[in-house]
Amino acid sequence: MPKPLSILFCASEIYPFAKTGGLADVAYGLPLALRDIGHDIRVMLPKYGPISERKNRIHEINRLKDLPIPVGDKSELATVKSSSIVNPRTKVQAYMTTNHLYFDSKWGVYSDPESGQDYEDNDERFIFFSRTVIETCLLLGWFPDLVHCNDWHTALIPVYMREVFPEKFKNTKIVFTIHNIANQGSFAFKKTFAKTGFPERIAANVRHKNAFNFMKAGISYADHVTTVSPTYGQEIMNNAELSQGLSTVLKKRKDVFTPVLNGIDTSIWNPDKDKLIPKKYNESSVDRKEFNKEALLEKFNLRYRPGTPVFGMISRLVEQKGFSLLREAADKLLAEDLQLVVLGEGDSDIEQFLQELQQRYPDKVGVQIGFDDPLAHIIEAGADMYLMPSLNEPCGLNQMYSFAYGTVPVVRHTGGLIDTVREEATDDGASNGFVFSKFEADDMLAAVKRAIDAFRDRDRWQALIQQGLSEDHSWNKAALAYEEIYRSLYV
Ligand code: ADP
Repeated sequence: MPKPLSILFCASEIYPFAKTGGLADVAYGLPLALRDIGHDIRVMLPKYGPISERKNRIHEINRLKDLPIPVGDKSELATVKSSSIVNPRTKVQAYMTTNHLYFDSKWGVYSDPESGQDYEDNDERFIFFSRTVIETCLLLGWFPDLVHCNDWHTALIPVYMREVFPEKFKNTKIVFTIHNIANQGSFAFKKTFAKTGFPERIAANVRHKNAFNFMKAGISYADHVTTVSPTYGQEIMNNAELSQGLSTVLKKRKDVFTPVLNGIDTSIWNPDKDKLIPKKYNESSVDRKEFNKEALLEKFNLRYRPGTPVFGMISRLVEQKGFSLLREAADKLLAEDLQLVVLGEGDSDIEQFLQELQQRYPDKVGVQIGFDDPLAHIIEAGADMYLMPSLNEPCGLNQMYSFAYGTVPVVRHTGGLIDTVREEATDDGASNGFVFSKFEADDMLAAVKRAIDAFRDRDRWQALIQQGLSEDHSWNKAALAYEEIYRSLYV
């Protein structure tokens, strides 16, 4: 047996403490799965205002109080506290960086929940966080075998390790995972560079298109780079537009680049154990979905109509998720015998469009604006189909949650959706959903109609549901793939 690795896993959001999207779920499920296979892993994130110390049993660590952290020519104090993430099998220690100015006084992860605007000091907030990660290791005298960083918010940690403290971290390897290349952490160069305290000679390594680019730094300095699905891996490597020019940087690292398809945590997303849904069920009792459907429609003030399919959507309200298609197709879509429930928050024009749609089709459309984890579970349990018309999708988790809940996904052929959803049987298995290729309203409508036709054919529909339920999308496979990557860095 090779010896277990010590790993520090850093992310800006980790379920259940802070979540705006899929990153939080990955930063929960993957570390727990790595712990399950024997590794000594700890996670670290900032402690934002709404994270309750009492509810999350957060406590102080004597050695990690009031650490002076340099940010440009000033110094701010960080106090690192401790909590844990747990599932029914396992527990992983979670370090949380507290600081009033950057995190405690802020109620959003990246943006002000009231105005929807990104915080102006986001560069400083995540420079401070990255620097605190380093100071924590130094003070604990804990230099893990591996530091795993995720997305732009933690992408400067590798630079501090290699350029500022190279001796201390000389035995620590670094993996950097790209969860979404659309957000790169791009800021006015001079001002941000000055806040990092990096030596002048490395300026070019963190500059992209004349701006300071956090993500470029992560890609360039990590020992290994990963992303969250094989197809997205190809897309970002080859598509300069999608990668906003970072494909050239990625190409230089192609020998140390490995896509790994995300998994889902099957203790959180399991209809047989889910305490958040009205009626639990499993593959031999999927007919109980109907109770959940009734409860779901009630939550959205819609009348339950047996035999009418319900489509669900749970999403950040951003154009990447394909809302322009929904806008274009809305009237034709709602001419069909279906109901649509949408849960999301984000861009105000998309929120407004959805609310207007709901007013125009009060019997058919239900909309809840906001972030509501329990309701997300009820949607997965109660909907018949799940609509994901994404323009691009790094991996996507909801299509996999849908499989686990016997909800049939209707998705666009892009990114991780290509790697998980099949309309035609292939070597990977029988059909498990509906897929449309072009980012066009008519293509989406045709796929929706195919899904409704299948819904009317009881046997066909049961086969689709059972196929999804039978698939293993748990973290087990991905955790082994990450373990292999980690170990490969030591040969
Ligand atoms: P992304 O990371 O691009 O937002 P993913 O599909 O990878 O997309 O993950 C989104 C995750 O966030 C899923 O777990 C989804 O259920 C959840 N989610 C998104 N919006 C909301 C919301 N408004 N309320 C509750 N959960 C949400």
